[in-house]
Amino acid sequence: MSLLEIQHRIDNGLAKANRAKDDITLIAVSKVQPDARVALVLDHGQRVFGENKVQEASGKWPGFREHYSDVDLHLIGPLQTNKVKPALMLFDAIHTVDRPKLARKLSVEIQALGRAPQLFVQVNTGEEPQKSGVLPADLDGFISQCRNEFDLPIAGLMVIPPIDEEPSLHFALLAKMAKRNGLAGLSMGMSSDFESAIALGATHIRVGSAIFGARQTT
Ligand SMILES: *Cc1c(COP(=O)(O)O)cnc(C)c1O
Repeated sequence: MSLLEIQHRIDNGLAKANRAKDDITLIAVSKVQPDARVALVLDHGQRVFGENKVQEASGKWPGFREHYSDVDLHLIGPLQTNKVKPALMLFDAIHTVDRPKLARKLSVEIQALGRAPQLFVQVNTGEEPQKSGVLPADLDGFISQCRNEFDLPIAGLMVIPPIDEEPSLHFALLAKMAKRNGLAGLSMGMSSDFESAIALGATHIRVGSAIFGARQTT
C-alpha cells in the first residue's frame, strides 16, 4: 500500500508548482479492488474514493460507511439516466455529466431529493469516437445550458486523455476551457500522469493502481 508515497509525491508537485499545500483532492480509485485492500486504505486515513459503476459501488460502500461515516464517494464512470436516482443517493460527486438528457434527469432528481452532489462535466478533448464526454466545440453551450436551462451548479471539468497522446496537452486544454467558463474544478490525472496534472492546475486527481496495486481482472 503506497498511499504515503503518493501523498508525498502530491506534496512535492504542489510545492514545485508554487501551489498551496492541500490544494488538491486525492480520489483513491477503488473500482474492482478487493474489500481487504479498500479496508487497508481506509485504515490509513484515506476518505475520498472513486468508483466507475453505480452497481459495484452500491454493493461495496454502504457497508464501509457504517464504520466510516465521513467517506466521500465520487462517481468517475459513465452514468445512465436510469441510474441517476441511486447514483444521487450514493455519491457526493459525479465527474461524468456529458449530455443534455443526463443533465435534465439530474436536475429533476436533485430537485426531488433536495441535495446536490458536486458536478463535473466530462470533456472528450481527444474527440475519440468510443469515449464519452462533451466535444470541445459543444462545451461552452452545454455548460450554459446546464446553468440556465437545468439550474445545475457545475463545479468543474473532467478529462481522460487519449491513451497514446501526451496527457499534458489535454490537461492544459482542459484548464483553458475551465477558465473560459469560470470553473474552478479540474478533475485530471491518474496513476501514470498525476504529477503533470498537478503542475497544470488539477484540483482533483484520480489515482487507482498506484495506491491499491494492479487491478485484478476477474
Ligand atoms: C480507473 C480510472 C482511474 C484510475 O486509473 P489508474 O491508472 O489505476 O490510476 C482514473 N480515472 C478514471 C475515469 C478511471 O476509470
